[in-house]
Amino acid sequence: MSGELTVTFYGVRGSTPCDGDYLARYGGNTSCVSMERPGQDPIVFDLGTGLRNFGASVMDSSPTAPFRGSMLLSHLHWDHVQGLPFFVPLHEPGARVDVYGPRQTEGSLDEVFTGLMRPPYFPIRPDQLEGAVSFQDAGDDDFAIGEAKVRSRWIRHVGPTLGYRVEWQGVAVAYLSDHGQGYGMGLPDDHVPDEVLELCDGVDLLIHDAQHTPEEFAQKRHWGHCTVDYAVHVAREAGSKTLAMFHHDPSHGDAEVDAMLRDARDASARVNGAEVVAAAEGMVVRLPDHRPSHLRSLQ
Ligand SMILES: [Zn+2]
Ligand SMILES: [Zn+2]
Repeated sequence: MSGELTVTFYGVRGSTPCDGDYLARYGGNTSCVSMERPGQDPIVFDLGTGLRNFGASVMDSSPTAPFRGSMLLSHLHWDHVQGLPFFVPLHEPGARVDVYGPRQTEGSLDEVFTGLMRPPYFPIRPDQLEGAVSFQDAGDDDFAIGEAKVRSRWIRHVGPTLGYRVEWQGVAVAYLSDHGQGYGMGLPDDHVPDEVLELCDGVDLLIHDAQHTPEEFAQKRHWGHCTVDYAVHVAREAGSKTLAMFHHDPSHGDAEVDAMLRDARDASARVNGAEVVAAAEGMVVRLPDHRPSHLRSLQ
C-alpha cells in the first residue's frame, strides 16, 4: 500500500464563490479540501462549493461503487456548507457520508443543518437524499475515523467554529480555515491560543486562514479572520512544516495573492519558519509517510 497521503484543494476561496479572469489561477470555489489514501475512505475538510468538483472526481474514478467518506465541517457559514446538496455521489443509493461539525446552541447539528437545506431554500432535506448523511456534534474532542486520529478544538471566529488536526498513518494535517487573531478576547493580535498550538504542533501541512493584508485587517478585524503574517506566526510557533495560505478574499485577484505569498515567504524565511504555499483550486499536495518502514508494514 502507498505510504502517501494525497491532499487535494477543491475550493480555496473565502466568504462567497466568485468568478472572473482576475482570479482564474487560484479559483473561485469556496472551502473544500480532500484527503485520500488508497484503499481507505476519504476525509474531507468543509462542504463549500468546491465539494461539487470533488463529487465529480469521485464519480469519474469509481462510477459504480457507492461513496463512503467522512467530512469535517468547520462551521455553518454559507461558504462552508453550500456544496453538500450538489455532491452527486450522495444522490446514489447506498452512499454514506458522516459529517462531523460544531455543536450548536439552537439544536443538534442535524436539526440546524436541515434548517438551511430544506424548502424553500432547496427542494429536499438531507434525509431525502438517495444516500445517507449523518451529522455528529463535535466540540473539544478526540475521535477516530477509520485509521485516522482526529482532534477538534474551538477556535476564534464569528460563531461556533472548529479547527481540526488529522493524523493518518504517520502524516499530520491541520485545518483552520477561518481563524480570527485577537478576536473577542482582548488579547494581543499575535497571541496564539493553546488550542491552536495543539492542533498545529509539528504538522506536515497547516491549512490556515490568510484572508487579509494588514491594512484590510485594521478595517475588518470584527470579520473573524487574520493576516498572512499571523498565519506565518502560527506556523512558526507550532513548528508546522508547510503552511498553505487559505480562504482567499473574493476581492483578491491572482496578482494580489501572488504578492501576499511573496510577503509571507519573506516573513517566514526571516524567522526560519515554515515553507509557504498559497492554496489554489486543483492543487495537489502529496505527503509521504514518515514512519520507519517496519512500522508501515504493520498496517
Ligand atoms: Zn469562511
Ligand atoms: Zn466563517
